Amino acid sequence: MTSQIWFLTGSQHLYGEETLLQVADNSQAIVAQLNAGPVSIEVVWKPVLTGKEAIRRVMLEANADDSCLGVIAWMHTFSPAKMWIAGLDVLHKPLLHLHTQANVGLPWAEIDMDFMNLNQAAHGDREFAYIESRLGVPRTTVVGHVSDPRVGAEIDVWARAAAGCQAARHLNLVRFGDNMRNVAVTEGDKTEAELIFGVSVNTYGVNDLVAVVGQVSDAEAARLAADYEELYVVQPTLRAGGERHGALLYSAKLELAMRTFLETHGALAFTTNFEDLGGLEQLPGMAVQRLCAQGYGFGAEGDWKTALLVRVAKVMGAGLPGGASLMEDYTYHLAAGEEKILGAHMLEVCPSLTSSPPRVEIHPLGIGDRSDPVRLVFDADPGRGIVVGLSDMRDRFRLTANTVNLVPPDSPMPKLPVGRAVWVPDPDFYTSAACWLTAGSSHHTVMSTQVGLDHWREFARLIETELAVITVGTTRVGFEDHLRHNAAYHRLARGL
Ligand code: MN
Repeated sequence: MTSQIWFLTGSQHLYGEETLLQVADNSQAIVAQLNAGPVSIEVVWKPVLTGKEAIRRVMLEANADDSCLGVIAWMHTFSPAKMWIAGLDVLHKPLLHLHTQANVGLPWAEIDMDFMNLNQAAHGDREFAYIESRLGVPRTTVVGHVSDPRVGAEIDVWARAAAGCQAARHLNLVRFGDNMRNVAVTEGDKTEAELIFGVSVNTYGVNDLVAVVGQVSDAEAARLAADYEELYVVQPTLRAGGERHGALLYSAKLELAMRTFLETHGALAFTTNFEDLGGLEQLPGMAVQRLCAQGYGFGAEGDWKTALLVRVAKVMGAGLPGGASLMEDYTYHLAAGEEKILGAHMLEVCPSLTSSPPRVEIHPLGIGDRSDPVRLVFDADPGRGIVVGLSDMRDRFRLTANTVNLVPPDSPMPKLPVGRAVWVPDPDFYTSAACWLTAGSSHHTVMSTQVGLDHWREFARLIETELAVITVGTTRVGFEDHLRHNAAYHRLARGL
């Protein structure tokens, strides 16, 4: 299904048919400019709206059409906003209010009252914004001429967040086993999550997966293992003919079986738990990494909330350079002035974070109580990134975001056999860690190098969920106040 954004233009009949034809022409030209520019999702023009019933109907159609991610509204002429009350009241899709006009410069020498009546978004959009605010309609406002690249870029951020929102609303998330025993932050209210995010989270017995692994043929596994040898730097003992090739074949079977299982259940995100492996011979490592690189969301130790975030990050970042992965703040480098974080997981970091071919290696793993697992080993690319965690605060979910700079490791880590990332968080290590702890945010995160704070702000706005932000300029004192204000706001915003 191709995703679309609908473009709605508001006007009225006061100025005659000729003006309305010009309104239609101008708004189609704006849509064409958006589609030619940085907006990555197709914008579809809808006929000019001049009355309450047509407005209400198009909003209901937007709700009902799964291909419609959201609507953009622009009041070219003056569109009396009481006409929009019924429509805005029923709209359940993301709304962007584009405050623009057809012309860039004023035609100073030629301007007359016909021009003035046609081009009055300057106050037409203020009338519309009044009713949006009066009704409490959540929306994103973008201001400027569409020929300004910033305008298209801001619309694209919103469109990507709307795509992330839509992906969450339709997400089936499969859990192979339950949460790691006694861990707190990976728990959460799955019923509430289905209301807020839309995600449907369900657990399956691991041996249901084991049965599917048993159905994968040796020939299929051999074909995939041959692909691995082309794509990656495979450790010699794991290659065809090597003494540990059987472990690579098992990892390939695991990947094929997990993919089949997820496709059978219409699922695009999943979790595993090393404490609950049933009849699996290896803890899924490379299989998980490969599926993540194909776009699946993943959380370890039953962490469905992080699996949701990874899937959302991948959808929001589709087509952009970089990647998205489960990440865990693992250990620190605390040398004064050089403080940084080494993030990794026992196996499952997504190779979309690197542009170099990962190494395929096999090593013993103390936890999991199974055969040695195969894994992809790599260093994440340096550059800008963001980590986002999701915690269940009893009365609401809290997203916490921290912008970061990924950096190269100070020196190679030849004895660390996992995918990993090294980063310096904004605004500095000490402020970042203190704020993260003050927010009680999760130790599992999604790390994205494709999307940034703007995208997550939009996503949080669209799903009406708290976002605590740690970034350049954040202070510990200011952040504590930010949390207090959030707590008050989100409790009051829930109503009775
Ligand atoms: Mn973990």
